[in-house]
Amino acid sequence: MDGTFNENDLSRVVEADRAHVWHHLIQHKPFETNDPRIIVEGKGMRVWDQKGKEHLDAVSGGVWTVNVGYGRESICKAVYDQLMKLCYFANSAGSIPGSIFAEMLIEKMPGMSRVYYTNSGSEANEKAFKMVRQIAHKRYGGKKTKIMYRDRDYHGSTLAAMSAGGQDERNAQYGPFAPDFVRVPHCMEYRKHELDGAPEENFGEWAADQIEQVILREGPDTVGALCLEPVTAGGGVIEAPEGYWQRVQEICKKYDILLHIDEVVCGVGRTGTWFGYQQYGVKPDFVTMAKGVASGYAAIACMVTTEEVFDMFKDDASDPLNYFRDISTFGGCTAGPAAAIENMRIIQDENLLQNCTDMGNRMVGNLQALMEKHKVIGDVRGKGLFLGAELVVDRATKEPVDEKMAQAVVADCMSQGVIIGATNRSVPGKNNTLCFSPALIATADDIDQITDAVDGALGRVFG
Ligand code: PLP
Repeated sequence: MDGTFNENDLSRVVEADRAHVWHHLIQHKPFETNDPRIIVEGKGMRVWDQKGKEHLDAVSGGVWTVNVGYGRESICKAVYDQLMKLCYFANSAGSIPGSIFAEMLIEKMPGMSRVYYTNSGSEANEKAFKMVRQIAHKRYGGKKTKIMYRDRDYHGSTLAAMSAGGQDERNAQYGPFAPDFVRVPHCMEYRKHELDGAPEENFGEWAADQIEQVILREGPDTVGALCLEPVTAGGGVIEAPEGYWQRVQEICKKYDILLHIDEVVCGVGRTGTWFGYQQYGVKPDFVTMAKGVASGYAAIACMVTTEEVFDMFKDDASDPLNYFRDISTFGGCTAGPAAAIENMRIIQDENLLQNCTDMGNRMVGNLQALMEKHKVIGDVRGKGLFLGAELVVDRATKEPVDEKMAQAVVADCMSQGVIIGATNRSVPGKNNTLCFSPALIATADDIDQITDAVDGALGRVFG
């Protein structure tokens, strides 16, 4: 076998896929008997499979990634031109696209100053975790090594990132995990009844105060950082309640704790601002991002920090250990920043942040209207074009529908040519939140097509 193949011979592709590809995030046994799905082509909001069937992609490549849509010639050209000029050089030296993208990014992130390039969201988070540990050793005599993370949040698939994983289902059978990662409670208003002592009023402040309780239990001099998603993605599309972020910021300041915001999903436009944290007036010390940075046109992720943190790593040049002793080989690929520059330019030139807000509002309106008709929708939530609809058996008890029912809705939408998702609720068998994240270029017709498909699917699955 060589690599040449006839574009029309997709049966060979299907065979090779079935025989040799170990797919992400799926159980292979049922997959083997399912209809194969190879995505062959994409343009704008739509993709086509190996049978030529058109799908409206309401999840931006499955996992909140293709923010500017498929088939962007200007990004492809920028990547091609850059690769012909220089494909790679280790990031201990500078590059033209790496420098220019860093400048563009920092302009959008007042208060931040330094960009560290990596290739995945997990890896970007690991870089911040490593920095926190090194700061603990440099500044605090080996104390303040603990990193807090929140129930339901997810920060990646590598071992330290999993140690900060708030979704138990994803972690089962992969322990033991790295030490000194400490969990704080979730802040989900819709499910606050699961939290002992949660009040009816001022829940946001109360939820943030629970973080303070964990700090006091662990000892403030042992806690170095708090890592949070601005809007929790795979854990159920959870926006923190009113009052939460302000208290979180106060608590971090009070106990000298670095605030790490994981923008791997929210970053670069998904919520209607450049970054999710900007919706809530937060001032982070670390921001990590990946998916939307280059919309999937090239692999790139970034760990961004302040000049204050950067300064901690250069205060004594006579000490040979006094720098961040870390590399990411492919953080030196130039395709990533070349694609990211063009991606950001498109979002700016086409006013896609505003479109994201407008279309997000339209979608929330449509989903809320569906709540009138379908009692199975218990809650509609999210920000911008990052939305979820939680399905429950009973609105009073909020008992989740079985995952199979949510999957049946996803499958029905798929048969109508609309790809949606269902996210994790941390409890096996309870992936009951329908998930929507269309590209930021979505039109009103696209949004209506998505919610019409959901309407039909809910009617057929739940009657
Ligand atoms: N952080 C969040 C919030 C994510 O949703 C993800 C992936 O879905 C990651 C980190 C890990 O990113 P990656 O899969 O690029 O390693």
